[in-house]
Amino acid sequence: MRIKRIVATLLLWSGMAAVAAAEPALKALIVDGQNNHNWKATTPLLKKALEETGLFTVDVVTAPGKGSSDYAQAMARFRPNFAGYSVVVMNYNGDDWPAETRKDLESYVAGGGGLVSVHAADNSFPNWKAYNEMIGLGGWGGRNEKSGPYVYWKDGRIVRDTSKGPGGSHGAQHPFLLEVRQPEHPITKGLPLKFRHAPDELYSLLRGPAKNLTVLATAYADPKFGGTGRNEPILMTIDFGKGRVFHTTMGHDAPRCRSVAFIVTLQRGAEWAATGKVTQAVPADFPGADQPRVRE
Ligand code: ZN
Repeated sequence: MRIKRIVATLLLWSGMAAVAAAEPALKALIVDGQNNHNWKATTPLLKKALEETGLFTVDVVTAPGKGSSDYAQAMARFRPNFAGYSVVVMNYNGDDWPAETRKDLESYVAGGGGLVSVHAADNSFPNWKAYNEMIGLGGWGGRNEKSGPYVYWKDGRIVRDTSKGPGGSHGAQHPFLLEVRQPEHPITKGLPLKFRHAPDELYSLLRGPAKNLTVLATAYADPKFGGTGRNEPILMTIDFGKGRVFHTTMGHDAPRCRSVAFIVTLQRGAEWAATGKVTQAVPADFPGADQPRVRE
C-alpha cells in the first residue's frame, strides 16, 4: 500500500515535470508575411532555434500578403496580441501596419517587452519614427542622412557620421569575422572575441536615430568584397523605454540561418530581450575565428 502510494506520487511528480518541460516559461512571437527575403524558408529556422533553447514556446503570426483581393481589409484587421509575449521577433519587411497595431508594438516595448530585429526587418518601416528608435539603425527604404547618422566602429568606439548619403548597402556575400566589442554583455559574455559567420550579406552604411544603442559586435566590410572598408555593426542592443531590443543584421536566407554564429547569437539575444539575462551555455560547436560552422 505504502509502496503503491510512493509510486503514485513519483508518477505524479514525473507527470508534472513533463508538463513543465512541455511548457517553457517564455513566449515568443515571430512576425512575418511580407519580406523581400524568403520568410517562408527562414521563419521555421528561427522558430526551431528558439525552441531548441527549451526556454521558449513560439507562435508565428503572418501578416496579410500583398495581392490578395481583400488585402486592404485584411491588413486593417491585422492586430497581433504583442502584450501576450515575452519577446517579438521581427522577420517582416513590408507595408505599414494599421496605426493601432504600430501603437501596440510601441507600448509593448516601451512597457518592458522584448523585441528582436532579424536581417531585413531593419529595412522595414522607414517612416515609422518609434520603430526606427527601437531598431536603432536601418537601411534601404529611402533612408538617408535625414534618418540619422551612419554608425560604424573605429578605434574602440562608435562613430556617428552625419554626412549626406544613402542608408544601407552590402557587398558580395562571404564568410565574415565578427569581433565582439562588449565582451561583458550577457549576450556576448563567454563567446570567443572573434568568431566567423557563414557566407552572408554584411550590412553596411546603416542609418538611424541610434539612441541608447550598444554595439555588441562588428565585422570589417572588406572592399575586396565590395564593402565600405569600415567595421560595421552586426549585433546591437537598444533600450527603448523599459524594453530591450536585440538587433542582428545576419540571416539573409535559410543557409545563413543554419550558421551557428547566427543561431547562437539569436538564441542569446532573444533570451536577453525577453528577460535581461542569458542562462544558455555556449555550445561546443560555436565557431572560432577561422572557419564558420553550419548545422544541417
Ligand atoms: Zn538580405
